[in-house]
Amino acid sequence: MSYEQEKQVAIEAAIAAAKLCEQVRAAIPAAMEKSDKSPVTIADYGSQAVICKAISEAFPDDPVVGEEDAAQLREPAMAENLTKITDYVKELIADATPEQVLDWIDRGNGTVAPRYWTLDPIDGTKGFLRQDQYAVAIALVEAGDIKVGVLACPALPVEGGETGALFVAVRGEGAQMMPLAGGELRPIQVMSAGNVSNFRFVESVEAAHSDQSRQDAVAKAAGITAPSVRMDSQAKYGAVACGMAALYLRLPSPKTPDYRENIWDHAAGAIVVEEAGGRVTDMYGIPLNFSESTKMVNNQGVVVSNGAIHDAVLEVFREKMP
Ligand code: AMP
Ligand code: MG
Repeated sequence: MSYEQEKQVAIEAAIAAAKLCEQVRAAIPAAMEKSDKSPVTIADYGSQAVICKAISEAFPDDPVVGEEDAAQLREPAMAENLTKITDYVKELIADATPEQVLDWIDRGNGTVAPRYWTLDPIDGTKGFLRQDQYAVAIALVEAGDIKVGVLACPALPVEGGETGALFVAVRGEGAQMMPLAGGELRPIQVMSAGNVSNFRFVESVEAAHSDQSRQDAVAKAAGITAPSVRMDSQAKYGAVACGMAALYLRLPSPKTPDYRENIWDHAAGAIVVEEAGGRVTDMYGIPLNFSESTKMVNNQGVVVSNGAIHDAVLEVFREKMP
């Protein structure tokens, strides 16, 4: 089975959504608060609208499991924000109406099924608000296996002094990368096995999203001496996939030990790293489960690596710091 159409639709949608996000970012966006107190911006909504429209036109029967929904936006007090979102969407889809924007966003209310898309319209909203790293993440999952993943990282520096990278992967076909501004997709590979002391590891900027001191200790025990590079969003997966880092550690924060990861925070990034030759598991070496629900209820923590150092890192948990 070929996933060529799925790949093209996801690439075009991610590029369009990233354009919208960058326009909002240039205007210094304000945050609104969701019911769980996490921030959301008009760009999160605009990005989800643009991507859901593209997916549902190409694949009308496919459910989309997106991070956002339009319930809050439908409230009268949000009318001004809805107008702003619609104006940004109109720059890409000239005749879009507010009602359509709401419906496209709610197209992302699907549930996990034998075949579904999952979408984080802005992963790393806190980074986005800080004018730091963020990502637009789209993935197609079939029978629990990620088949296609596209990650747009508009703020990631790429070779040649440019900013903005697009990562693309199809199961069995390898991972590729290109400048978001345009160009050709080129194959990428994780950092090969080598002198571990030259390796770098990445982790979240937000201290509340993981356990930075434990991550530091684990990396040291695995032989990595350089301090971590902190980066928001699934851009961290991109960094491992293209060899900028050898390891990404995301261990449960001691403040939220029962936190379970969302599928949209990992699906696109995970296939990009795997297809670039790397490995992705939870902290116990168990594969991430994308077939049950929006939360990966049976996984804890995430370990992403170039593959070569994966077992050594997992061993640290088993033997040195269980
Ligand atoms: P990052 O930019 O890698 O720190 O990850 C951003 C993501 O962290 C967001 O999309 C949230 O879904 C997720 N998140 C929120 N709270 C937590 C938490 N307590 N532990 C782990 N991840 C979290
Ligand atoms: Mg996210």
